[in-house]
Amino acid sequence: MAIEFSARVRRMPVYPVADGYSLPDDVAMLASNESPDPPLPAVVAAAQRALSGVNRYPDPSNATLKRALSNRYGIAPSRIAIGNGSCDVLLAAGEALLEPGAELVYAWPSFSVYPYLAAASGARAITVPLDDDDYHDLDAMAAEITAATRLVIVCNPNNPTSTALPFADIAAFAQRVPRHVALIVDEAYCEFNLLDDPDTTLDLLDRHPNLVLLRTFSKVYGLCGLRVGFALCGSEDFVRAVDAVRQPFFCNAAAQAAAVEALAHQDAVAERVERAIVARVEIASGLSELGIEAAPSQANFCWFDLPEESDEQAVVRGLAERGVLVRAGTALGRAGALRVTYGTPGQNVRFLDALREVL
Ligand SMILES: *Cc1c(COP(=O)(O)O)cnc(C)c1O
Repeated sequence: MAIEFSARVRRMPVYPVADGYSLPDDVAMLASNESPDPPLPAVVAAAQRALSGVNRYPDPSNATLKRALSNRYGIAPSRIAIGNGSCDVLLAAGEALLEPGAELVYAWPSFSVYPYLAAASGARAITVPLDDDDYHDLDAMAAEITAATRLVIVCNPNNPTSTALPFADIAAFAQRVPRHVALIVDEAYCEFNLLDDPDTTLDLLDRHPNLVLLRTFSKVYGLCGLRVGFALCGSEDFVRAVDAVRQPFFCNAAAQAAAVEALAHQDAVAERVERAIVARVEIASGLSELGIEAAPSQANFCWFDLPEESDEQAVVRGLAERGVLVRAGTALGRAGALRVTYGTPGQNVRFLDALREVL
């Protein structure tokens, strides 16, 4: 007899893991929106110093990291939640807010982790299609908020479509979400968004105690292998709730130390953003030479529909055979599309050359 698992396990969606982790170094890994740049030497050194003390548990209050984030963003440490990646905070929010009978609202296609929140809790997911240009339809989302709604998630810029709404739209939407409903704005890619200064949304936190800005060290800071993310919150209640549903030592010592050091190098952040913007322009123009129009990207990746006659799986395979790994749209919510992370200049040329051959 096989082990009998809970209904919760049976509800969990299966997201195909990215390939490439055991492939040769020269494979262009453009499938997971990672940074192509290795961590800064000072950040590696900080993590290494922390390793020499790992006979001790990490600081469960994440005090040094919270203080560094507080200095950087002007938000009290008590209103900052830390996580083992920002997905940890996201899943904890699901546990803290959702249960059978409750509803959560998010757009689709959007981040592949959101469906897990409903599956894990037994709450009902209300998914609102993106509009025809692949932007969040905030009016339609507002219309789905009911007495049962506990959580609304807006991913801005949106993964996988790379599109972003301007600050004014987010601010107006926050105004429409009732105060007893948590609003998470997932800003994993906000540093790459040229529509507004990434710090603009911070102003909303004082006006909306139910607002949470979810951010991460995984993308522009290039630390996804260490797992550390954070949330800037409108109230301390949210921090207490997500801490209550997790184990005490959710952020390891090397990750805490590396994140603190990384925050001190905003010049490197600016340089990475600049390189991503150059890649954005070059790849968009390379795609357009192939007759492909990518969605207007405000992130470190692009999203586009393949020409009608081409087969998504065959294109992904053809690119892989040429040493370029990208994400097929089917796994992300739309068949016939691709999501491609910007790599180094050499990898970007290689991607465009490979795509030209495959098509
Ligand atoms: C990559 C990503 C994250 C970050 O996940 P971590 O757990 O911090 O690595 C969060 N939200 C979105 C939309 C992402 O694409």
